Amino acid sequence: MPELPEVHTTATILNKLLKNLTVRDVWSNYHSVYHLGKRNIKDQVYLDEFRKNVRGKKILGVRRRAKNVLIDLSRNVTILIHMKMTGHLLYGKYEKNTPPSVKGWEKETWIPHEKENEALKDTFNRFIRLVFTLSNGKHLALSDMRKFAKVTYFQTDNIPGEIDQLGPEPLTSTFNLAAFRQRIFKKPNGKIKQVLMNQEIIAGIGNIYSDEILFQAGVHPISTVEKIPEPKITLMFRAMKEVLRKGIDFRGDSTSDYRTPSGERGQFQYHHHAYRQTGKSCTKRGCKGKILRLKVGGRSAHFCNTHQILYS
Ligand SMILES: [Zn+2]
Repeated sequence: MPELPEVHTTATILNKLLKNLTVRDVWSNYHSVYHLGKRNIKDQVYLDEFRKNVRGKKILGVRRRAKNVLIDLSRNVTILIHMKMTGHLLYGKYEKNTPPSVKGWEKETWIPHEKENEALKDTFNRFIRLVFTLSNGKHLALSDMRKFAKVTYFQTDNIPGEIDQLGPEPLTSTFNLAAFRQRIFKKPNGKIKQVLMNQEIIAGIGNIYSDEILFQAGVHPISTVEKIPEPKITLMFRAMKEVLRKGIDFRGDSTSDYRTPSGERGQFQYHHHAYRQTGKSCTKRGCKGKILRLKVGGRSAHFCNTHQILYS
């Protein structure tokens, strides 16, 4: 699932590309009976309402909050896109490609224009479920193989609960060591990996970056928060800032489906020390440990069995 560095990469690139364009139309085939009556474009009635509210509006900017992409439009409307498991936003010239024998909008498909860059035509970018037609003739498309993404809109000045309840942004200058300590100690008995991944404690950290942060800080993922010594709290705080910034520098992580808006892979997957490195020798200088995998709250934690110390 895209985490802070991936969503940051997408939002930063899209902000430059989309600012001042107008949304001409919205198309989606997300339609699912499991979402009937829900505030999500997978419900047909909501999709019509969504289209009515975004069509004709100017894009003022694109920003990130936690793992959400927020597209601010004129007249107090903001689009919220949570990419979830396999979703990622793509930008380019697309065209509707529906064989003449096929009837009904459900079967319509979109493909990148033949002159578009090759990366957009990659297999991982072919699951187009949502398309915004833009005033410059290009498109913003959402590829989402497993269809878990969430797309809604809200009034910009009326922040929905799901955004309002999120913890602070870890890369802001005001999020200092004291703030980090105060946030994680909201769950004194929690296991540190789960606490770091809890979006109401700190926003934007998920499975990949929590593994890498704990590896760098030398803390075992199931350590109990209140048992972790102060020097290690400081190390975790520094590791958090460093690892997330490194993720951004590498334009995100494409271990899974994530791609940048041009359809290209991020590069952070080539710099993992722990995440999905099970069985490999530890890369920390002087450490003779091995990377092991453990289930924590239904998710896999990857850690070195030697230098990552369990505090419990
Ligand atoms: Zn080690």
